[in-house]
Amino acid sequence: MSRPLASSHYTPCAWGSDCRIPLDDLSPSGISRHLKEHHFRDQSAPWHPKNRGHCKWWEADGVCNKDLNYASFGKHIAAVHLQSTARPCPNCHQNLGRADSLERHIKNYCPRSSRAEKK
Ligand SMILES: [Zn+2]
Ligand SMILES: [Zn+2]
Ligand SMILES: [Zn+2]
Repeated sequence: MSRPLASSHYTPCAWGSDCRIPLDDLSPSGISRHLKEHHFRDQSAPWHPKNRGHCKWWEADGVCNKDLNYASFGKHIAAVHLQSTARPCPNCHQNLGRADSLERHIKNYCPRSSRAEKK
């Protein structure tokens, strides 16, 4: 089992105002597991991937509040709030959103990649 970008330091969870539990797994599935275990424990409103709700992640300028399916929260937080899915291009060091766009970037767009030059 490989843990993507397992961090040696803990990342604090910024969901809601009072989460004291650090995120130990910054992958989308690890984040959604954390949300299920720690933030959606209300028996009257159980976690369901098709429910819609608002992202309660705090950024410097306030709560994100983006409207999403519960199933998308993990991916959203990983990509937008933690950038844990970002991969810097090894050639030009641009930060790409995710592994698949990095591949596309290297093949087609990277200014430093030799492969980008051939048509
Ligand atoms: Zn939390
Ligand atoms: Zn958000
Ligand atoms: Zn590049």
